[in-house]
Order: sequence, then structure tokens, then C-alpha cells
Amino acid sequence: MKILITELNWPSGIRLLEEKYGADKIVYDPELWKNKQKLALEIADADALIVRNQTQVNLEMLRPATRLKVVGRLGVGLDNIDLQTIREKNIVVVYGKNANATSVAEYVVTALFLWSRQVAEAAQDVKEGNWNRKRFTGSELYGKTLGLIGIGEIGHRVAVRARAMGLQVIGYDPYLTPFDFPIVESGVRLVEMEELVKISDFISLHVPLTPKTRNLINLNLLNQMKPSTLVINSSRGGIINENELYTALNQKTIAGAVLDVLEQEPPSPKHPLLKLNNCIITPHIAGLTEESQVRTSELVAKEVIQELEGNVSMCRVK
Ligand code: NAD
Repeated sequence: MKILITELNWPSGIRLLEEKYGADKIVYDPELWKNKQKLALEIADADALIVRNQTQVNLEMLRPATRLKVVGRLGVGLDNIDLQTIREKNIVVVYGKNANATSVAEYVVTALFLWSRQVAEAAQDVKEGNWNRKRFTGSELYGKTLGLIGIGEIGHRVAVRARAMGLQVIGYDPYLTPFDFPIVESGVRLVEMEELVKISDFISLHVPLTPKTRNLINLNLLNQMKPSTLVINSSRGGIINENELYTALNQKTIAGAVLDVLEQEPPSPKHPLLKLNNCIITPHIAGLTEESQVRTSELVAKEVIQELEGNVSMCRVK
């Protein structure tokens, strides 16, 4: 038995694997995804592979893998995994189902307050000897409209939190009916995309990156938003067209953006969005909290073990 872990993982999940199969059966190298040659050698005799979002699990990477039965994904998005190749090779994928959804929802709430109340800037200003009450007049979230694009595990958690703060929550998700659980339980009013972009004060994206959602948010939609709108993307880079977002932010046809994800991560230091004051970028941390990483690490370890032991994991990708 050999379990290969090619990216950062938390100790508690690794411990579960060690307890089951012995420490000598686990190869953990958080930098391995960067070294294709070493990766090709290590994957050759691995029974299980555990990755985060940097390891590109594709035909080239899997070519030397003759024993591989299961890939564990420490997270939710599957855009770094070529599912067609995986299926052709009879390998299964298990993922960290819902283990970081609450953390991402809390990130969105943080982004809303970050935008409406400049607490960190005001505190810094005071340290610099000032007392600028007028400059730091904020705005309330109460009564504003939040538009969610995608109302799955994360979207509906955001909706519940936003409604508790007095926001009106509308949503666009063509795969849900008004009777589906995430809609009924979160009280989101389902609308068409055109209505959502026109009336929302805040727009938050919670869709997977697929060929259908790539460039979903383009200049046509950005141009229909209010000049006061804030766009939040904690789903995946590539869902917003970054060049067109730059145009909208630079020309102030929308007020701002908070982006946790970019098409290329980390971005080139010359990336135009880095230069804009109305664009806040964080390094893909929405789902990264201590709690969510312990949950993810343990869940993926347990579900990889399930598959290695011949059972069907409840987190198996269908
Ligand atoms: P989910 O599968 O539970 O929900 C996705 C929702 O998007 C579904 O309800 C689906 O019907 C909807 N959808 C699909 N295509 C759509 C479209 N074209 N328009 C509108 N809605 C559409 O997934 P989730 O757990 O809520 O996660 C969403 C995404 O968030 C993940 O795919 C992942 O890429 C991203 N994510 C990011 C982080 C982070 O750290 N930044 C962490 C976790 C997840």
C-alpha cells in the first residue's frame, strides 16, 4: 500500500492514514505538485493520491500510475481533475464534501462588511494620529439586496447568514426549482440572471468552473449592474472575465470587487487588477480556516480508506 499526498494537508487526516496503514506507507510532500519528474516516479506505485487544487490530475500525470485506485481531493472544486480520463482508467475520486462550505460563507459575510465598514483602514488612521469620523462613514447592509449566482452548499449558507443581517436575498440557479431544499430553507427568491444583475447591491458567485460557467460574468452583464454594485468571487477564477472586470472597475461602471480566486494563481505582479483601489484580492483563502482544514483532512482520509477497503465512499464523485 502506498498513499501519495502531493500538496499541503493537515496532520489529523495524515494521522488517520498512518494509523490504518503505517507511517511508512504514506508519502507526504506538500511541494511535490511542482516537480513533474519526481511526481511521475512517485505516482507509479501509488494506490491512492491525495491532492488539493494545484496538482493537475490529467492523462499525462496518470500515465505512469499503474496501481492507482482512488484520488482524494482536499476541497470541493474538481476543475484540476480530468474526470473523463479518471473514469476511463477506473479510478474513483472522493472529495471534501461540504467540509469548507461554512468557511466560504463566512468569508462572503466578511467581504460584505469589509466593503461597507472600513474598520481596518479607520484603525490604521487612528494609529497615525488622526480622528477622521466623517471620512469613515460607512453604510448598512440592512435592507440592501444580495444576488447569489449558484445556490448550492455554499450559496444557501450565505443566504441564511445574509437574511439574518436583514439583507434581501435573490438568486439565480437554473438547476433548482423554488421547491428545492436550498431555496425553501434559505428563503432565497429565485430570479433570472438579467433581473439579478440589475437590482443587486452585492453579487456573490457560487458556481463550479465548467465550460458553461467560464466567463459567465462578462462585460454585457457587468454593464447592466448598478454603479454602486460590489461583485464577490470566492468560487473560481475564470468565471469572471478578468479583462472585462478590469474595464468595468476602471471605468467605475461598478463600484468594486472582492476576489478570492483568479484565473492564474498567484497572479503575475503585472496583473492589471492588482493596481485598482476598488479591487480587493485575497490568496484563495475563503475555504481556509483551521476548522475547515481539520474537517477536510479527516474526511478525505476516511473516504480514501473506504475506497481502498472496497467500499463505496459517500463522498465519491458521480
Ligand atoms: P455546489 O455544487 O453545492 O453548488 C453549486 C451550485 O451552482 C449548484 O446549485 C448548481 O446548480 C449551480 N450552478 C451550476 N451551474 C450554474 C450556472 N451556470 N448558473 C447558476 N448556477 C449554476 O457547490 P458548492 O459547494 O456551493 O461550491 C461552489 C464552488 O465554490 C465550488 O465548485 C468551488 O469551485 C468553489 N469553492 C471555493 C473555495 C475557496 O476557498 N475559494 C472553497 C470551496 C469551494
